[in-house]
Amino acid sequence: MSFLKYLSFASILFIFALLFSCNTAVPEQHWQKGNLHTHSFWSDGDDFPEMIIQWYKDNDYQFIALSDHNTIAAGDNWYKLKESDKKNNALEKYQKRFGDWVESKIDSSGTSVRLKTFEEYKSKLDVQDSFLIIRSEEVTSSFGKKPVHINVTNIQEKIEPIKGNSVYEVMQQTLDAVHAQRKKFNIPMFAHINHPNFGYGINTEDLKKLNGERFFELYNGHPAVHNEGDETHLV
Ligand SMILES: [Zn+2]
Repeated sequence: MSFLKYLSFASILFIFALLFSCNTAVPEQHWQKGNLHTHSFWSDGDDFPEMIIQWYKDNDYQFIALSDHNTIAAGDNWYKLKESDKKNNALEKYQKRFGDWVESKIDSSGTSVRLKTFEEYKSKLDVQDSFLIIRSEEVTSSFGKKPVHINVTNIQEKIEPIKGNSVYEVMQQTLDAVHAQRKKFNIPMFAHINHPNFGYGINTEDLKKLNGERFFELYNGHPAVHNEGDETHLV
């Protein structure tokens, strides 16, 4: 499926079952497979959230986070179908799979579909103890022409993209905002610096200087990400 190009292999993390609630005093630990970096129509992805989530459910994953750019999938959002969506029969496939759950309308501007919020798609597709849907945002900022994209996994309140005086400052201030939110809600939540070589925006020296940084994306399926580096940039 075409949305697979957004799949980040670095995000196919295997994490311990501690993410799932457990009643025993010492939880049994085992590996879980999921994707923490993918996009839907809430930003620049090419399918409806439920269709993406359903694919992961059907393909033996145990967790998924839709990390759309600068949104946590909240509020009323009518998505206007693009030509490429019509070519892909995105609405027809969505209706075939989800039936009356789908809300669409046609007016003089074209066909629009209401995107389900995080709460809605989680309540429909999350399965206790076997398939977990985690709230996420790819906080998408930049310094000059250099992209700075940081995933926040299990985010509770939207973090606005931060403007700083350098790439390092944008990253550090975003990390600080994540740490402040984690403290406020007192729940597991973590930042994850995405595709450092996208636009060659983030260098190793800046990464090393960061305070509180523990995770970055090693591989991303998008074609412009330069996973392999080049003569002057590290992998
Ligand atoms: Zn990104």
